[in-house]
Amino acid sequence: MKKIAVIGAGIVGITTAFELASLGKEVTVFEQNSATAEEASFANGCVFSPGFVTPWVAPGLPKALLGKLFREHSPVRIGGLGTKELAWISKWRAACKMDSYLVHRSQLHNLASFSDSVFKEISSRLNLDFEHSKGFLVLYRTPKEQKNAERILQTYKEMGVSFEVISAERARQIEPALSEETTISGGLYFPNDQIANCRQFALLLKDECEKMGVRFEFNSNIQPLSAANPTLIQLQSGHTKFDSVVVCAGVSSADLLAPLGIKIPLLPIYGYTLSAAVRQAIDAPLSGVMDDRHKVTISRIGQRIRVSGIAQIGGDPKAHNTAAFNTLYKVLSDWFPGAAKTSDSVQEWKGARATLPEGIPLIGASRVPGVWLNIGHGSSGWTLSCGAARALSNLIDGRLPGTNLIGFGSSRID
Ligand SMILES: Cc1cc2nc3c(=O)[nH]c(=O)nc-3n(C[C@H](O)[C@H](O)[C@H](O)COP(=O)(O)OP(=O)(O)OC[C@H]3O[C@@H](n4cnc5c(N)ncnc54)[C@H](O)[C@@H]3O)c2cc1C
Repeated sequence: MKKIAVIGAGIVGITTAFELASLGKEVTVFEQNSATAEEASFANGCVFSPGFVTPWVAPGLPKALLGKLFREHSPVRIGGLGTKELAWISKWRAACKMDSYLVHRSQLHNLASFSDSVFKEISSRLNLDFEHSKGFLVLYRTPKEQKNAERILQTYKEMGVSFEVISAERARQIEPALSEETTISGGLYFPNDQIANCRQFALLLKDECEKMGVRFEFNSNIQPLSAANPTLIQLQSGHTKFDSVVVCAGVSSADLLAPLGIKIPLLPIYGYTLSAAVRQAIDAPLSGVMDDRHKVTISRIGQRIRVSGIAQIGGDPKAHNTAAFNTLYKVLSDWFPGAAKTSDSVQEWKGARATLPEGIPLIGASRVPGVWLNIGHGSSGWTLSCGAARALSNLIDGRLPGTNLIGFGSSRID
């Protein structure tokens, strides 16, 4: 039986381990933390959005974001700019050109749709019980914001996305607790998208992995892979040889691969979330809402509300940006005032989205035999995780991936 090491026990590592074990592989997961889903997969927005999924690249986006950068409640922030960030921004600007955008948009949609079907199949087959709710609503405050969004509607139609263009009245029917004080011009409703608790799903799937014999080595900080022996997993305490290694190490993936001469332009784009207990169910969202102006999502996860947003480039990974949290509190209060207990026990969290300039992940073989990649899922890693894992595992097993993986491979490695 083939021995495979998976580095990282975030949602991508766990789904990958699950798929590989389902194909009969002997899998060991190495994780530097003491538990599953402690980094980017810990308290993300929980929006599982195969319909709305969007790469953070688009024609006109650089100019639009620059125009918002210095506003009090800007969705983008600069924490610091070094050579790494500037090089990444230059590649990202090139990817924002129309031809590049159209290709990446449809690749992402293709993967997200596949992921949705895998996610539903696994959840129902294993009867996994995690917090979830159906439907995702995007809200526009002004006719101008709504008109700007209309440009993407044709693309949604061409890709077969199920969505409704809705009025303010319909938005308030879908989410009856939306504040009357905040003006709605209109919105988009994605009935097949959902809110689902990513960390809870990862923990449940880890249990399923263990039932199938997957071994978990927590508190194991893997050293960068060695060019002399790339499938040798090195810990400070010793080493073990595997037939293959799958790198699912989020923002640390580029450092792990660097000694192999594989250069990946992976940048952490920091985001922030708030989680607070529901104060009054009648005042809370039923599922998920996005404020288009601030690019902030408000999700109902069980008895809690999670508010998520902000894309911050650069800066100290550990430092919390008070202004970013203020924006999250403001957007929550604009749409669902009084819904959450924000005066006590709010969990304020910062995470890093491992993002590639084109806004789509790298899934497939690296150029080094035995070393495989499942990295760079950016702002949609939860949505993409099940599909990326199934496709990669099929490839490793010599099968057809199950989705069109053109564009997700090593041709994009520098
Ligand atoms: C604020 C925020 C909101 C988000 N909201 C959404 C959303 O609503 N919907 C959506 O689809 N996606 C969302 N995302 C994106 C999504 O959370 C990520 O894309 C996804 O969690 C990435 O999973 P991962 O397993 O690749 O990374 P991680 O969860 O970061 O896992 C990587 C793991 O590798 C481990 N590791 C790293 N280096 C080593 C090493 N040397 N040795 C051993 N272990 C190592 C880390 O400890 C970590 O556990 C959001 C992200 C953020 C930050």
